[in-house]
Amino acid sequence: MSLTFNQRIALVTGAGRGIGKAIAETLAQNGVTVICVSKSAESCGAVAAAITAAGGKAKALAVDVADGAAVAEASSALLAEFGHIDILVNNAGITKDGLLFRMSEADWNAVMSTNLTSCFHWTKLIGRPMTQKRWGRIVNITSVVGMMGHAGQANYCAAKAGMIGFTKAIAKEFAARSVTCNAVAPGFIQTDMTAALPAEAAEKITAHIPLKRLGSPADIAHMTTYLCSEEAGYITGQVFTVDGGMAM
Ligand code: NAP
Repeated sequence: MSLTFNQRIALVTGAGRGIGKAIAETLAQNGVTVICVSKSAESCGAVAAAITAAGGKAKALAVDVADGAAVAEASSALLAEFGHIDILVNNAGITKDGLLFRMSEADWNAVMSTNLTSCFHWTKLIGRPMTQKRWGRIVNITSVVGMMGHAGQANYCAAKAGMIGFTKAIAKEFAARSVTCNAVAPGFIQTDMTAALPAEAAEKITAHIPLKRLGSPADIAHMTTYLCSEEAGYITGQVFTVDGGMAM
């Protein structure tokens, strides 16, 4: 089945590396114009340049998604330039791990503002014109640990669980305007975020994955791209786990 995208415009946060880069590239391969957002201008700039060099349409914008004022400024500039944005993928995320008794309030707040509050700001700002146009796709990249929990990641698990509640609430608020909102919950994916894990620990994790391999960014990009397509128009408020069977 080939997917239908009618000259859509997408904004992908955290598009400079890893999962977000794969999502931006896959959407662009499907003819979508992609606005690549990351914290550093270098990473989103390189991804947008590669998409353009491959014949796709992309723009890069460095925005700190944890900064509500910066997101507001970026959103109004983008809406002035493009008129509207059809697809929003809230993917930017960080970890600041530690057992609760050693976790600082700064690390709690950094993970909350980057992973969760950023979804509030982008969805509110980009979502309004989407609902006015009566077509839209929002995909929030959560994590299996938002459903399972994980020792040493209370901040990250709380933010990712929050994204699931947010997804379901927005799905209900925006449904009457044909704007869908879903979440994708990756398991263990090979990116810079997980690169620090020692080989021995990665082997142990792999042993617990029924499909016996770590995931690739493309595994997440395929599910996300489907959820952004015309064909996914009757799916909203759902969480799609992509984890090789790990959280079964
Ligand atoms: P990654 O390789 O570390 O890349 C993170 C991306 O997010 C980078 O492009 C980074 O920008 C951007 N970013 C981080 N903080 C930002 C900020 N304040 N403002 C703007 N952009 C920011 O991460 P990943 O593994 O691809 O993860 C992507 C998403 O999937 C995250 O939400 C993560 O929680 C989720 N996830 C990942 C896994 C996994 O196993 N990897 C599993 C479950 C869920 P720069 O390039 O400028 O640094």
